[in-house]
Amino acid sequence: TRSSIAFIGIGQMGLPMVRRLLKAGFAVTGFDLSEAARAELVSAGGKAAATAAEATTGAEVIITMLPNGKIVQSVLLDDSHVLANAAPGAVVLEMSSSAPTETRALLGRLPPGLRLVDAPVSGGVKRAIEGALTIMVGGDVADLDDVEPVLSAMATRVFRCGPVGAGHAMKAINNFVSGAGVIAAVEAVELGRSFGLDPADMIDVLNASSGRNNATEIKMKQFVLSGTFASGFALGLMAKDIRTAADLSRDLGLGQDCLRQTADVWEEAAKALGASVDHTRIAEFLAVRERE
Ligand code: NAD
Repeated sequence: TRSSIAFIGIGQMGLPMVRRLLKAGFAVTGFDLSEAARAELVSAGGKAAATAAEATTGAEVIITMLPNGKIVQSVLLDDSHVLANAAPGAVVLEMSSSAPTETRALLGRLPPGLRLVDAPVSGGVKRAIEGALTIMVGGDVADLDDVEPVLSAMATRVFRCGPVGAGHAMKAINNFVSGAGVIAAVEAVELGRSFGLDPADMIDVLNASSGRNNATEIKMKQFVLSGTFASGFALGLMAKDIRTAADLSRDLGLGQDCLRQTADVWEEAAKALGASVDHTRIAEFLAVRERE
């Protein structure tokens, strides 16, 4: 029989992930602070709980898909009923993009008998809808084996990265590369445009050349040049992820200038434009800076 799942955080990613779990035959009871999100969950065929503690009662797997690790800790630990009523041996499957330091702190505060696996995702809303996410996991091998069927319902690739926290470290590192790639693609197009090159033609050349990256392949044409800015991933979340990577780098004593500067630019953009706008709007922030 399929494990019973509590799913906390029914946002841009959480809702399509829940849909894949329901389709795979899991029973999902969800909770989100937003009433609109709880209504979406019910229309997707899930059960909505009035509190996090109600959602986790009897759950064998507790999935968190919240903005960051501080919020995850407060939702799971501030009210002792949230974890006390889970099934014995339940696994907390922490799928948010959290800082690995926060994840290890959470591990240290879990009630005895509960297990923790960090399993952040990449691929965005589109691949969440398709059940084609990439998931990077950290945890004990036996615990990873236990949650594999749950992850397979949402992902095509699952990478085991190491102990608890390793998945979250890998995710922050990925988003450093991804976020630096967005800035590089936006600045490249601005540079070419100023010289007289055509932006759409430039993207075609980059995609057939060694300058290709995820921003040139998908984000530039779909969300930036089109002016839709509708990737479904908020600017503040990207800024948080790259700051997580930069903090990790600093804590490990590495002097990585590109990473530090990338984190600073994303953070300045989130301050200037607001954390909740789409992250691809960083193009507007960079365009303003170029004119200054
Ligand atoms: P989102 O803001 O759309 O969803 C977060 C949800 O959490 C919201 O519905 C919000 O109401 C809810 N929430 C916030 N605080 C809460 C609390 N205390 N109790 C209950 N619910 C609460 O964000 P998202 O885009 O779905 O991202 C979720 C996580 O996944 C983030 O860590 C993000 O960095 C990561 N992520 C996002 C994407 C993407 O493309 N959007 C891709 C990969 C990873």
